[in-house]
Amino acid sequence: MTYMLQDPDGQRYSAESLADVAAALGNGTLHGDSWAWQEGMVEWVPVKSLFPEQPAKIQPDPTMRAAMVAGGILAKAGVSLAGFATKCFRKVTLQNRFSKALAAMLEDGKLEPAELEALRQMVAEAGGKWDEIVAECQPVAEMFIRHQLADAIADGELTTEEEKAIMANVKLFNLDGDIKQEVNTTIPRIRLLANLRENRLPPALTIKPVWIQSGEAVYTKQNAELRSAGQIVSIGIFWVTNSRVEYVAPKGGASIALKNIREAQSHGRQLILTDTKGRREFVMAEAETTVAIILCLLRASNRTASVTVDDSRQERRRISKEVRNAVWIRDGAACVECDSNIYLEFDHIIPVAKGGGNTVNNIQLLCRECNSKKSDRI
Ligand SMILES: [Zn+2]
Repeated sequence: MTYMLQDPDGQRYSAESLADVAAALGNGTLHGDSWAWQEGMVEWVPVKSLFPEQPAKIQPDPTMRAAMVAGGILAKAGVSLAGFATKCFRKVTLQNRFSKALAAMLEDGKLEPAELEALRQMVAEAGGKWDEIVAECQPVAEMFIRHQLADAIADGELTTEEEKAIMANVKLFNLDGDIKQEVNTTIPRIRLLANLRENRLPPALTIKPVWIQSGEAVYTKQNAELRSAGQIVSIGIFWVTNSRVEYVAPKGGASIALKNIREAQSHGRQLILTDTKGRREFVMAEAETTVAIILCLLRASNRTASVTVDDSRQERRRISKEVRNAVWIRDGAACVECDSNIYLEFDHIIPVAKGGGNTVNNIQLLCRECNSKKSDRI
């Protein structure tokens, strides 16, 4: 039966069936606020009223949703989902209720004291054993913490509250080994970088090498390689004091006054230092923080050398939380190169400087090791 249709601006159309009306609405030919009439109707009705609303799709409650996300991550990470689901989510047991509650509470990354107390009460009332129940949830807890660390690296900062939340989870879930070490090295590194950006130097080291002069203080000491055209020239120790960079090695040793530094750059583990006499290439574990220390010392003495830190690391700060979450789940909480799930970082596949965007398609998860190797190649 023919439908008469009228747009808000008065334009009239006709359609031969309700399906045609729907198609016209769908492709935009017909305005959503149009009116409709057909034979037998007393008056014109809003076109939308021809399509009674579909019942809203039932959304799983937030606790189940969080549990499903956690389950999905576990499956991709190679943990048996069936076993995990049986243990944690399917059986109507204490473990089931506990895991659901926990996953929901951890969704915001923290476990409030009141939430923790509620969990303890749940276990006590059911006569369960706290340690056993908590031990079952270690894989979930570890992945939540690794995600928090990767976020913090991307943001370049970690609030005291976020740090407390991570430490509380490490303690609560009795986490040890790899994850504990990762937390214990990553948090100070993030804190140091954030402080240096704000011109807060770390306390000077207490070591006093023989060559040190009075009034001079050491800010970092690293094992390093000196390279030339990619080849190792020597292996030595790289020092930064408040007045110079000192590379002590059997070959190629150098003492470079901070005031002569023109440029300092880091790319992954590579540190490139240019002074009035030329350019030197070093490789060390903490190239990024070392450059940040040099930059901070130069600013403290009002030097205006062009000192830059690794651009690819700066770019991470502009990746939105939504994009990070989507990438985290898509990549299964693991490095896309080597499948490792430790020391994960968000990486731009095409660097922003080369036209890459902060989109899900251009971001991937890499472990720190693979990310450094990638930087070496660029
Ligand atoms: Zn890797």
